[in-house]
Amino acid sequence: MKIVEQEINDILHSSKKYSEKDIKNIFTKAKKLKGLNVEEVSAILNIDDKNPLLKDLFQTAKEIKDTIYGNRLVLFAPLYVSNLCNNECLYCAFRASNKLIERKALSQQEIADQALALIKQGHKRILLVAGESYPKDGLQYVFDSIKTIYAQKDGKNNIRRININIAPLTEDEFKELNKYNIGTFQLFQETYHEPTYKKLHIAGPKSKYQFRLDAIDRAFKAGMQDIGIGILFGLYDYKYEIIAMFKHIEYLEKKYGIGPHTVSVPRIEPATGSDLSENPPYPIDDLTFKKIIACLRIAVPYTGIILSTRESEAMRRQALELGVSQISAGSKTNPGGYEEDEEEKHTGEQFSLGDHRPLEKVIEDIVEHKHIPSFCTGCYRLGRVGKDFMDLAKPGLIKHHCLPNAIFSFAEYLLDYADDILQKKGFDLINQVIEKEMLDEKFQATIRKNIDEIKEGKRDVYL
Ligand code: SAM
Ligand code: SF4
Repeated sequence: MKIVEQEINDILHSSKKYSEKDIKNIFTKAKKLKGLNVEEVSAILNIDDKNPLLKDLFQTAKEIKDTIYGNRLVLFAPLYVSNLCNNECLYCAFRASNKLIERKALSQQEIADQALALIKQGHKRILLVAGESYPKDGLQYVFDSIKTIYAQKDGKNNIRRININIAPLTEDEFKELNKYNIGTFQLFQETYHEPTYKKLHIAGPKSKYQFRLDAIDRAFKAGMQDIGIGILFGLYDYKYEIIAMFKHIEYLEKKYGIGPHTVSVPRIEPATGSDLSENPPYPIDDLTFKKIIACLRIAVPYTGIILSTRESEAMRRQALELGVSQISAGSKTNPGGYEEDEEEKHTGEQFSLGDHRPLEKVIEDIVEHKHIPSFCTGCYRLGRVGKDFMDLAKPGLIKHHCLPNAIFSFAEYLLDYADDILQKKGFDLINQVIEKEMLDEKFQATIRKNIDEIKEGKRDVYL
């Protein structure tokens, strides 16, 4: 894969000839859920803040989100196993030369404790995160951590899907990792603009731009199916980044027949010991951030969009309307963060969080907004991954397939971890959604039968 700077700039420039009518035609095309081509993406990215078409953009994104994903929001928690790192990413607190944070690589026992703490909050999906330096045994540390997390149980509950966000691997390493039953492998390019990348990643293995860019190819060649990509917004011009990422997606789809399973949209947050993170070179204001999410929702409708706890409560709510389909909740970004005393909490974290609410509060809020919080991992365990998932997702069937499973996983959460008030509100919402979204009586009956079985104690129910 090659990103050619001039080519990206030419695309961004040529879009200036799009008229208002042309843009409206793009929205009409987008609503057919087939995605857009790169010139069309460029045209909608160039809608400026004062242009009334921005409202249409948001409305189109919302319609597409509602059609494909319905009122369902997938929840997960990051588990930072280690903040040791050999790299020098100038925006990150974990970078090797930063003396201002406490370093820690959790032992397998500590990882087990962390996983159990998350299961006891009600989590089922974990994102395992680490810096690029493993305490001993190299990558085996990560493999052991995966096994440890999957082995933890609270009654009938456990972690059912572990996604991974670690440094890029070689093809052989990816093959090895693929044996450990992981969900999505996430890797953010940070910036697709090579000169900026080189300025900001000044030492360590991550300084090699092309090795990182080619990582998704290596993962697919190694047989991995679900890959997540992302940009760290604030490092370079967001329009350039999105066009380049779109070219990357087009390339992957053409070459492997699979696009990314998810796109993450982290915005740079203040990190201890990083001046750059306090004053990012290309800061993204809230309106622009919403525009980015809306453009992505329209451009790649079948790809999940992930928002982390980096964002504030208010922004997360708005983003949900525009197309975000997964959020982290109750997060800690320091190794061991889920069990510490209050006053110890902020040592060794990666960046400041914008949303500090515990999982339960996030869920109350999601229910208030008439969305079903989902801990579902059904597709992945039924082998609906990679191309199979895309085939299911592209015609807009996620809503029909995933909504029942989201309901089951939420019902399990309500019965095992929610207080009486939330339990009542949650089951009321489930009933409303069944009535409104599942019009077929037979199907309704199947859903209700499964919910009854969950109420009688059955767990891990999915279609
Ligand atoms: N070390 C691996 C890597 O760099 O790919 C994976 C873990 S790293 C902690 C995960 C992500 O954190 C990075 O890809 C980067 O986008 C993000 N990150 C780093 N510093 C950040 C900051 N100050 N604010 C927000 N996100 C940040
Ligand atoms: Fe290390 Fe990843 Fe942070 Fe870079 S972003 S310093 S590689 S943990």
